[in-house]
Amino acid sequence: MEHSILVDGVIDGRQAARIVRARVKEEVTELRAEGIHPRVAFVRVGEDAASETYVRAKARACGWVGVRSEHIHLPSNTTQQDLFATIDRLNSDNDLDALLVQLPLPDGLGGRQVLNRVAVDKDVDGFHPENLGALVAGCGPLEPCTPSGIMRLIEMLGVDLRGKRALVVGRSVIVGRPMYNLLVRGHATVMCAHRHTPDLASLVAQADVVVVATGVTGLIRGSWIKPGAYVFDVGITRQADGSLAGDVCFDEARGRAAGVTPVPGGIGPMTIAQLLSNTLTCAKLRRGLIERTIHRA
Ligand code: NDP
Repeated sequence: MEHSILVDGVIDGRQAARIVRARVKEEVTELRAEGIHPRVAFVRVGEDAASETYVRAKARACGWVGVRSEHIHLPSNTTQQDLFATIDRLNSDNDLDALLVQLPLPDGLGGRQVLNRVAVDKDVDGFHPENLGALVAGCGPLEPCTPSGIMRLIEMLGVDLRGKRALVVGRSVIVGRPMYNLLVRGHATVMCAHRHTPDLASLVAQADVVVVATGVTGLIRGSWIKPGAYVFDVGITRQADGSLAGDVCFDEARGRAAGVTPVPGGIGPMTIAQLLSNTLTCAKLRRGLIERTIHRA
């Protein structure tokens, strides 16, 4: 149990990420001693400013742990055919372990088709249907970074999900749905809310663990939260004044919840730390150092 990540009711995602990165760095050092130097490529299309910031942050974190990274930036007018050609080239690059296509993609590129094109063993984001299916089956080595980062936080906090009620607000394929499945696997009793869910407040009030991923600033009010619950705020929205805000009213939630993640400094750093961990997994998978089908509890 590593309680140092919980300070005055705030779950310190930056500290948790440091702990994960230290473990990854040790393993990278060991692999490099055996002549294996993990390498990841980030493909970004167009001029989305937030995407550029995220890719830079990911590349910086790679540098901290000794993973090689490459940022491939394609223009906004890239066709799906061009993007597929780039992905195919990276898929067949024998010196490349992991490949990430930064979302969102410009309209017309067919986001799902693009994600399906990434080689299953290089799919560091865990968004390929085969990896998502394996997650549901409980046997995949590559799981999406945000939900698996939240599971790591839950573990570090020493929260036993058995007998607990959890609520996931948001059902996207990249966050909400895998989160739901990971919490069920962790033995929580889980509900999933979305735009058509009535009386969200009463569902939040029943939950011992709440994960919110909607992109709706301040959707979850502090007064809804069950005293002593743990609240994980995935949402990030840039405000008119340039600051970042989450989906949870942080000041209201703090003090009522046993722990709440801030925005920024909560789920974001853990997502990137998990990406580094997944990059290592890709490097090992491709060399047969770990099994493609793993057996989870
Ligand atoms: P999507 O837009 O794909 O999904 C949003 C989900 O929220 C949908 O399921 C939607 O419901 C639901 N939703 C929207 N409004 C409401 C509402 N009023 N009440 C209940 N549910 C609602 O977003 P993502 O999952 O990709 O991302 C969500 C947020 O998390 C964004 O702010 C994104 O930037 C952030 N994010 C942060 C990451 C990090 O590392 N910290 C990583 C990934 C995302 P419906 O399905 O019915 O439309």
